[in-house]
Amino acid sequence: NPEKKRGCSDAALYETLRKVFGFRDFRPNQEMIVRTIIEKRDVFAVMPTGGGKSLCYQLPAVLLPGTCMVISPLIALMKDQVDGARANGIRAAFLNSSLAPEERTLVLRDLLSNSLDLLYVAPERFTLDQFQEMLKRVNISMAVIDEAHCISEWGHDFRPDYLSLSQLVTLFPDLPVAAFTATATHQVQRDILDKLALRNPFVVRASFDRANLYYDIRFKENASDQLVALLKQNSGKAGIIYRTSRKSVNETAALLKAKGFRVLPYHAGLGDDERKQNQEAFIRDEVDVIVATVAFGMGIDKSNIRFVIHADLPKSIENYYQETGRAGRDGEAARCTLLFSQSDIPKVRFFIDAMQDETERARALGAFSKVISFASTSVCRRKTLLDYFGETYPHDNCNSCDICLGTREVVDCSLEAQMLLSAIARTEERFGATHIVDIVTGSANKKIRDFGHDRLKTYGVGKGRDKKFWRQLIDELLAQKVIAKSEGLYPTIVLLPKAVQILKNEARVEIVRVLEKKSAKAGKQ
Ligand code: ADP
Ligand code: ZN
Repeated sequence: NPEKKRGCSDAALYETLRKVFGFRDFRPNQEMIVRTIIEKRDVFAVMPTGGGKSLCYQLPAVLLPGTCMVISPLIALMKDQVDGARANGIRAAFLNSSLAPEERTLVLRDLLSNSLDLLYVAPERFTLDQFQEMLKRVNISMAVIDEAHCISEWGHDFRPDYLSLSQLVTLFPDLPVAAFTATATHQVQRDILDKLALRNPFVVRASFDRANLYYDIRFKENASDQLVALLKQNSGKAGIIYRTSRKSVNETAALLKAKGFRVLPYHAGLGDDERKQNQEAFIRDEVDVIVATVAFGMGIDKSNIRFVIHADLPKSIENYYQETGRAGRDGEAARCTLLFSQSDIPKVRFFIDAMQDETERARALGAFSKVISFASTSVCRRKTLLDYFGETYPHDNCNSCDICLGTREVVDCSLEAQMLLSAIARTEERFGATHIVDIVTGSANKKIRDFGHDRLKTYGVGKGRDKKFWRQLIDELLAQKVIAKSEGLYPTIVLLPKAVQILKNEARVEIVRVLEKKSAKAGKQ
């Protein structure tokens, strides 16, 4: 009987799914992963947030004799995960530094008497010989590594403690290992597989397409006004507003609160208690919106988040994907809005340039430049995101991003481009975007006069259009690789070969403009 040999019959699998978890069917990939784990083969699975990773190991944990050990970096969330599992009748516990000695003793007693299905532990335990010795004395059915990308220095959330997990297969050669992550480019995936030394693992890469998310990028003019307008549109709905600095989190939260919205701040500068309270108030729907730095959200299981707004630029596409991915985990429609301004770029660059480690700095710069090009082009947002993860989006129109839903027209901006390019050429590629725009629009500021740029032929030729138009055109020309930014703390705009063709009238500049953005179409599943 082949089913017996696999260790578990269909009937047992589906019965557990129904009785313990209350689900009728598996989501994509879950069944294969569960079966593979039960066969004791290593698994590596990349599944997007909300894909249902927990079930992939919790179901085998129930079916297999012994304890399933889950290594997770999310100490703050272990209790929630354990509570959730217990609510389903699973015998679960966690071990981490937050436990009082007597609580620890109880957990260890349960573990040693083989009365736990699931045990969550923090990665730093593995550096403790004592813990490793103890593990040898108990019946562990398998090891699960949650948030496995934390082992990769190429990922966006490297945690040195995770490196100790490299010893896992050597120390416990009989233990099957299942590693999960919601975020891994192919490069990070190779790195994880290599570091964990998984043995002929069953590898799953689920699609990264989050069809229920609507992506929208808007030109950032006045962030406060725009946030107020967005919150009005989403009144009463749960959402996250991401900002880069603690200061801007505090200011934005205060401003929105003064406007009568139910918001709370969240960042690493708040005390532990306050942070926890604010997070819980959000999870329990006591406030609608959390204004946060990127410190917020990893592992947050709140399924009804209807919008995520990035009021500042994320530092990588991976971050953006993770952060927006917290919206719509229940599968219902949700909106992701990014407010983008060219003038935010130097702020991020400032932090990147201050990085000590050269490799790290180069990596951060590369990751950030992908964000800029994502935000400044007129290509379907979904296509660009999937492309980043090495996935080809099979459709021309996703019907769920600002580009695809907007009424579009192709505008010829060759003449305007020539004005900009000529200003760049005449100032010998030695100035940044702001100054070039000042020349073209005929600004009479001190820097312009000091350099005598008010005497240039191109001074003021673009007066007919506002600064916003010219800034956007610069973004487009950057994205179309007509011009580029020099390296360094104060980047200047330089001309690329295509610019010369445009100046000579040998090539044209066409821009896809979204004339009118339609509101999100609900619930494309
Ligand atoms: P992930 O950890 O991959 O982000 P979770 O394990 O938290 O995802 O699951 C996301 C949500 O989907 C949870 O609310 C979970 O209860 C639900 N879920 C998981 N598997 C199924 C399933 N087979 N059928 C219905 N809902 C499911
Ligand atoms: Zn699209």
